[in-house]
Amino acid sequence: MSSSAPVKRIAVIGAGPAGFYAADALVKTFGDGASVDLIERLPTPYGLVRFGVAPDHQKIKSVTRLYDRTLADPRVRYLGNVEFGKHLTLEDLKRHYHAVVFAVGSPNDRRLGVAGEDLKGSMSATEFVAWYNCHPDYRHLEVPLDAKTAVIVGVGNVAIDVARVLAKTVTELGETDMADHALEHLATSTIEDIIIVGRRGPAETKFTTKELRELGELANADIFVREDELEVSPESLGAIQGDVNATKNLEVLQGFGQQQPTGKPRRLHIRFLLSPTEFRGNGRVTSVVCAKNRLEARPDGSLAAVPTGATEELEADLVFRSIGYQGTPLPGVPFDERRAVIPNAAGRVLDAPDGQPVKGLYVAGWIKRGPSGVIGTNKACAMETVATLAGDELLSPEDPRPEAVDALLASRGARPFTAAHWAKLDAFETAAGVAQGRPRVKLIDVDEMFAAIS
Ligand code: NAP
Repeated sequence: MSSSAPVKRIAVIGAGPAGFYAADALVKTFGDGASVDLIERLPTPYGLVRFGVAPDHQKIKSVTRLYDRTLADPRVRYLGNVEFGKHLTLEDLKRHYHAVVFAVGSPNDRRLGVAGEDLKGSMSATEFVAWYNCHPDYRHLEVPLDAKTAVIVGVGNVAIDVARVLAKTVTELGETDMADHALEHLATSTIEDIIIVGRRGPAETKFTTKELRELGELANADIFVREDELEVSPESLGAIQGDVNATKNLEVLQGFGQQQPTGKPRRLHIRFLLSPTEFRGNGRVTSVVCAKNRLEARPDGSLAAVPTGATEELEADLVFRSIGYQGTPLPGVPFDERRAVIPNAAGRVLDAPDGQPVKGLYVAGWIKRGPSGVIGTNKACAMETVATLAGDELLSPEDPRPEAVDALLASRGARPFTAAHWAKLDAFETAAGVAQGRPRVKLIDVDEMFAAIS
């Protein structure tokens, strides 16, 4: 970029992986020609790396070292504890920035839409994950762990995380950065059986193989997969030909089928070809009625679960639906209700699905492409968006000065949490962790965070 070109002021909304990769790509693309405000609703950065990645998967969290380099970049300013829609509107952003990149993720969960889904004891995996990971919005979630059998619906990595957390002992989990309130409550768990339920077969799981394999190595739970449910049709085998992950998953599941139980305190079952149709219970869930399925080839070659007419009732006093996250609309920003994403073409926001570009607005991450892929997937996704942005004519903001944003935020009563604040809080949490032999002890309350760093 030419040094005489005016500095482009760009707001990135959301400081999860996609927001960080977008901010990084922006300064790499524009050099000193860009000045990025990375704006986040919560005080702390990193989004799902802090609030989604399982506490016993600390290695995955080390990706934050890369994000810290972005935070330290003088061209990037972190404004945590600032909420789009509350402290800043779309009109405000257009007045102060040349472009806005929405990287807000998919905060909600998908629902099954079956009777009894709202009974006590039935909840979403996303809420449970947020609760044990210290997300401030879920501090008071009621998780009735006085249960014998927990059913988890869905065969993706979130289901695996939930199963592992339910299966492990509090001694194992106590070595992690899991929320103290969750550790205390998990210590009271009476769960003996955990049943992961897939609507399709063992060749159609969404697990990543590394995560799946871990389920067969749990110190506190034996693994069970039924032989009759491991039978795979030629159509299924054909559909996964060349798909290394799905093929390996099938091998691992077949291995689980051979594994002999050793009398561990908990039992983890993976079941297939079952779709919940009703949650039963009087006030609290006591069972899940499932339709038994068979697989049917669709014209596009995919295999769909089709009910056979038979049913099976699984006893369960705790049920987690783990069937994917879902994006929610942002005030003033176009939204594709069907796909629950912001409609876009290569990251450029469109006014409707297949509609016209909206000048100056961009998207990255799950709110752009839906809730799929691992953390690293967001890097290529954000880079595509920034490449699109760099080739476009951007907005001409009335007042692009950073101080104008500061003044506006002050007038709206916002109390921004800066990169310097986060560095202090990070040191505080890590030191508290060292004292307990844990990676960190997370704070949850905003006032407590400001107090800890003052
Ligand atoms: P996911 O991978 O999309 O899995 C969702 C599961 O729900 C699928 O098995 C899907 O089955 C099933 N499902 C969807 N609708 C259903 C319905 N109506 N009835 C029954 N089952 C239904 O979603 P996720 O587990 O929430 O994970 C989200 C993303 O985060 C994924 O990309 C995942 O890999 C990633 N993640 C990664 C890690 C890690 O790397 N350690 C950890 C957590 C999450 P069908 O296939 O039949 O649709």
